[in-house]
Amino acid sequence: MMQGKKAFIFGVLNDYSLGWHIAKQLHEHGCETAFSHMPGEKFERRVVKAVAPFDPRFLTPCDVTNDADIAAAFQTAGEKFGTFDILVHSIAFAPADTFEKPFLETSRESWRTALDVSAYSLVALARAALPLMNPGGSIVTLTYHAAEKYIPNYNMMAVAKAGLECSVRYLAAELGRHPKHIRVNAVSAGAIKTLAASGTGDINSMIEHYQQKAPLPWEDGPTDVGKSALYLLSDLASGVTGEIHYVDGGYNTVGW
Ligand code: NAD
Repeated sequence: MMQGKKAFIFGVLNDYSLGWHIAKQLHEHGCETAFSHMPGEKFERRVVKAVAPFDPRFLTPCDVTNDADIAAAFQTAGEKFGTFDILVHSIAFAPADTFEKPFLETSRESWRTALDVSAYSLVALARAALPLMNPGGSIVTLTYHAAEKYIPNYNMMAVAKAGLECSVRYLAAELGRHPKHIRVNAVSAGAIKTLAASGTGDINSMIEHYQQKAPLPWEDGPTDVGKSALYLLSDLASGVTGEIHYVDGGYNTVGW
């Protein structure tokens, strides 16, 4: 399904990462892959090992809070890929104390950091990607239900996800009308054990909660997320943009 397509994927840390599961689906369907990693040898080593099964075209360092890093990453993409079809944004961060303290205690600095890394980065990456993206290209980001409803401890990350989801709609409107007709969508994933999720609170109880309440069994969330992202990134979703697509076993549809 993805033969001849090329994907630039941001946000793989290890083989638990949702970005990794999206890459797996893309790779299995014939897509070429390339990855960013946080700057530093320790991160590079981890990511090189994790993505080895996908035989990536290149890896490049990029801290998304640094404009020079973003420019350098896309310069590398231009050199190695020429053009590409798919951008995956699977990145989020908020300072640890924002998950522990009451929301009322959120500092200006924590607000700024969470929004910068978790929401503004989508806009910055989309802008840098546009000149290199092929017509009909597709961008997918990852969000969470806390953007819409109160979830204990999520605090600043919830606010950042609300900003991210709104950014998806604005980017979709502008890039859809751009001559390249680029689509922009978000997958809203249910609770899944990853490094980022472990920092947000008691992820095991959240997963149990999904398993008890969701209409469908919530047993292989990472694969479910990978498959739905594959659909949104493929031509099967050619008429779909600006969507927040829930992949949570239906959890968001129940009211108890
Ligand atoms: P993860 O820890 O595997 O991935 C988070 C990634 O963000 C890592 O690769 C990390 O290096 C990267 N990152 C953080 N700060 C960065 C920066 N300044 N520059 C560049 N990269 C940076 O965890 P994950 O759960 O796979 O998270 C991926 C996305 O999925 C996030 O947006 C997260 O909010 C979202 N999500 C996760 C869940 C879940 O339950 N795991 C649910 C819904 C949405």
